Amino acid sequence: MKVNKAELIISAVGPEQYPEAELPEIAFAGRSNVGKSSFINTITQRKKLAYTSQQPGKTRTLNFFTINDSCHFVDIPGYGYAKVSKKERAFWGRIIEEYIQTRSQLKGVVLLLDARHKPSEQDLMMYDWLKYYQIPIILVLTKMDKLKKSKRTAHVKQVIDEIEPLPEDKYVLFSSETGEGKEEAWSLIRALGGF
Ligand code: GDP
Repeated sequence: MKVNKAELIISAVGPEQYPEAELPEIAFAGRSNVGKSSFINTITQRKKLAYTSQQPGKTRTLNFFTINDSCHFVDIPGYGYAKVSKKERAFWGRIIEEYIQTRSQLKGVVLLLDARHKPSEQDLMMYDWLKYYQIPIILVLTKMDKLKKSKRTAHVKQVIDEIEPLPEDKYVLFSSETGEGKEEAWSLIRALGGF
């Protein structure tokens, strides 16, 4: 899909800052370093739309982007970052929970998982939690280019078996290096958002 416009509209922490527009919203979640910003940047064909978690000092906020004036993307801060205090983690848990629970525009969450590793406890918790709130999910397995061809199937199986997705949960194999899965991801996102 061609992205003519992609802009950060607001970095929010609470509902009073969420944009008022009724555009369908897709949120992106994953462990810090999973390749979430690379994914957002690749599919929007922008170099630095989403901030990488490797950029030190970046404030952790819910970043709302408008895409082609047809939807919002919401970048949720990466979890599992070791240097975050317990207090900050709890604070962020509440911010994210509030967003997921209250945002009527939210059509679904893209949950990113590193194709090379077994999902972490936090990945499984995030999946279960989204299910609990009946949020539709697209799983994106990142960094596929890092897998040897002969190991692809086994690695994908390892991740999927651990998550045990329900039949309605679609998954995409993705690489921001090669562009693998880019169009497939778009068609699932558009189907989820209804745009
Ligand atoms: P985030 O913290 O989830 O936003 O992760 P980033 O997008 O910043 O990526 C973390 C690191 O993984 C960076 O060094 C990226 O260059 C690298 N990375 C992300 N996606 C891919 C990918 O598909 N293939 C490869 N080889 N590296 C990737």
